[in-house]
Parts: sequence; structure tokens; C-alpha cells
Amino acid sequence: MAVEIYISEDQIKNKITELAYRINEDFSGQELVVICVLNGAFMFCADLLREITLPVTMEFIKASSYISGTQSSGEIKFEVDVKKNLAGKNVLIIEDIVDTGLTITKIMEKLKTHVPAKIKLASLLFKPSRNIHPVKIDYLGFEIQDKFVIGFGLDYDGRFRELPYIGIFDED
Ligand code: 5GP
Repeated sequence: MAVEIYISEDQIKNKITELAYRINEDFSGQELVVICVLNGAFMFCADLLREITLPVTMEFIKASSYISGTQSSGEIKFEVDVKKNLAGKNVLIIEDIVDTGLTITKIMEKLKTHVPAKIKLASLLFKPSRNIHPVKIDYLGFEIQDKFVIGFGLDYDGRFRELPYIGIFDED
């Protein structure tokens, strides 16, 4: 079993600084409601937030796909939902990875029912080759190849979330 480093700790740090700078500029003088998509985005969200200089409040949301056998049914269930009404607020959703795009599409549909003033998306990773539900990622960390990645919040069977880099897990 080995983990190959795919995106280093330094690359992630530099990217987060760059994204935070853009967010601080784009929302200058405004308040922000940051919505962390659990579980995988917790580390990206925590590091990004430490570089945000705007007045921020935080909410959490957790969605998972219904699985039948090994296949996702395409339906999403919400296990944690935002507690606050987001009407008229500036909302920034923070996601770990956009793969097919199903999860984030469903989350955005749900959050838009609150009628926020603005709704923007930050995602650390995006796999363009797997995407079937197109979504605009306003603040993207890295486009990656079609590989299963772990670390920096992302897990394999519950493990490896603590790694400070993005790695590729090799079971051999
Ligand atoms: P989507 O709905 O976009 O297909 O999938 C999004 C979710 O699938 C992510 O939030 C993440 O939990 C999981 N996922 C997709 N690709 C990967 C990957 O390469 N590694 C890990 N650990 N999780 C992934």
C-alpha cells in the first residue's frame, strides 16, 4: 500500500492564498455566509477561511447519494442542512471535489430556494472528464485527471482525510 503525492502541500497552500485573495476582492465590503460541504471539504474550508478577511458566518451541509448495490441512484439525501435562512445573503459554498457534478448541482438547487443575493462555488478539485452535470466553479483549485484521490479532507473508506497533500492511493 502506497500513497503517491499528486498535489503537494505547498501547491495547495499557494492556491488557497490565491483563491482567498480573489474572494476578498470580489466580496470587498460585504458579508459572506460560507457553507462547508461535509465531510470532505472541512480542511479546504478551514484553511481558506483563515485567509478570508471579510465578516463571515458559517453553515454546514451534508448530502449523500442513495446507493443501490454499487451504483448511485442519482438521488441525493440531505443528512445535515443549513440552519439559517439565506434570503438576501452572499453565499459561498465550499466543496472538496466536483466529479460527475450531481452532488453540487442538488446542493445548489436546494440553496437557491432560499433566494440568496449571490451564490458562488469554490471547489478544491474538478475532474472534467467525469463531469455530466455542468456547474460553474467560481473559485477552482485544480483540474485533475480521472483518478481517485485522497487526502486534504478526502477519504478512502474513511481513511486518509488527515494527509496535508492530495495523493493517489495504490492498493498494491
Ligand atoms: P459527484 O456528485 O460530483 O459525482 O461526487 C462528488 C462526491 O464524490 C465528492 O464530494 C466526494 O465525496 C466523492 N468523490 C468524487 N471523486 C472522488 C475522489 O477522487 N476521491 C474521493 N475521496 N472522493 C471522491
